[in-house]
Amino acid sequence: MSTVDSAVGIALLFPDLLGTYGDSGNATILAERLRWRGFEATPVTVRSGDAVPAGCDVYVVGGGEDLPQALAARQLGPPRTGPLCEAVDRGAAVLAVCAGLQVLGESFVGGDGVRVDGAGLLDLTTERGRGPRSVGEVVVDPVPALGLPALTGYENHGGVTVLGPGTSPLGHVRRGVGNGDGSGTDGAWSGRVLGTYLHGPVLARNPALADLVLGWVVGDLAPVDDAEVLELRGERLHAALGPRRRGRWRP
Ligand code: GLN
Repeated sequence: MSTVDSAVGIALLFPDLLGTYGDSGNATILAERLRWRGFEATPVTVRSGDAVPAGCDVYVVGGGEDLPQALAARQLGPPRTGPLCEAVDRGAAVLAVCAGLQVLGESFVGGDGVRVDGAGLLDLTTERGRGPRSVGEVVVDPVPALGLPALTGYENHGGVTVLGPGTSPLGHVRRGVGNGDGSGTDGAWSGRVLGTYLHGPVLARNPALADLVLGWVVGDLAPVDDAEVLELRGERLHAALGPRRRGRWRP
């Protein structure tokens, strides 16, 4: 199902609408981590107005402001229809951040108070939060089934996301807000569709998350030298959580 023979197709959806926080870097990181392992990667940038290709292996959706987010949702079409949903049905993976997470859900309330249909790929809805925006560093302990170390990132959102029974949270928030519904969770995960409130870009700060998503589509991955990024992670976790205490966090 790749775009070019055996190359892995990585579609970056609507960076002109959902690119405010540098989340487009997630697509670059996926492509580079594949190339380091000898895979061919074909990045496909899908701008607003372009048709979404159904044949890619990984789809990346970033964060953005309320109005562009509603425009992006409209382009994906009614819930559970369209090329993105077809791709997921065929086994493609999706990584969505903040506005992207909200857009993949059943519905969200835009800045004008109007409810907008989402893609219906994740069993969640997003409401307008009543308090101040959630802004700042976040540390998330992923659910054990994902086998990931702590996730570091930052958040900046007004939406509050409530998960339905059809999806698992990505993890539990140790610092920050995340979904903000009182459950202490961040993000959502169902099959090969994964969403989070973490910007960073999240895959730059969390290479294990990048490799989890890549592993879903290409299988086992050879290890790569992540010494530099592990040092950066250590700095971020230290800044967010304070000095490391035995067993508190893994870089
Ligand atoms: N517009 C959305 C909100 O404020 C998403 C923001 C974002 O993507 N950072 O909730």
